[in-house]
Amino acid sequence: MGHKSTSGTPSPFMVSLWMAAHPPEALEVVSVMGVVVNCTGLGAGELCSDAELVPIKGQLTYLLPQPEINYIVLAGDLYMFPRADGIVLGGTHVRGDWTLEPDLAAKSRVLAGHAKVFGAL
Ligand SMILES: Cc1cc2nc3c(=O)[nH]c(=O)nc-3n(C[C@H](O)[C@H](O)[C@H](O)COP(=O)(O)OP(=O)(O)OC[C@H]3O[C@@H](n4cnc5c(N)ncnc54)[C@H](O)[C@@H]3O)c2cc1C
Repeated sequence: MGHKSTSGTPSPFMVSLWMAAHPPEALEVVSVMGVVVNCTGLGAGELCSDAELVPIKGQLTYLLPQPEINYIVLAGDLYMFPRADGIVLGGTHVRGDWTLEPDLAAKSRVLAGHAKVFGAL
């Protein structure tokens, strides 16, 4: 393993990257170290040949920060969380969708849904 920290010992991050890239050798490491935690999320599907692992795509819409909003809203599939960096609006969940591009139609649906909820208050 060529990745070493300044102390000469490989950092846990470099070890995990190396192991993800070398599954057969990683098994050997398991036999020496006793345990390996695979925390590669969706990437675990490819690493472990697990075709049952599928993505569920979610998308967030952010409004400008509004410090006076100090409550959350949950209404069916819709949710709103105030954060220092903006108001988070959701939610969407699309099973089996691998795309990373924002879905503008979903964004419009979320905005319209929240407008309806707040319009009814
Ligand atoms: C829209 C949305 C909103 C969410 N909101 C919340 C929330 O409010 N609260 C909450 O708790 N959770 C929320 N989640 C879920 C949360 O984001 C995930 O559960 C969490 O990120 C999973 O963390 P993880 O470390 O298991 O996986 P990940 O964050 O996916 O990390 C896996 C890492 O492994 C790396 N990797 C994969 N394969 C390889 C490989 N072969 N080699 C090297 N590296 C590899 C990836 O690059 C990645 O860095 C939300 C998710 C979405 C989509």
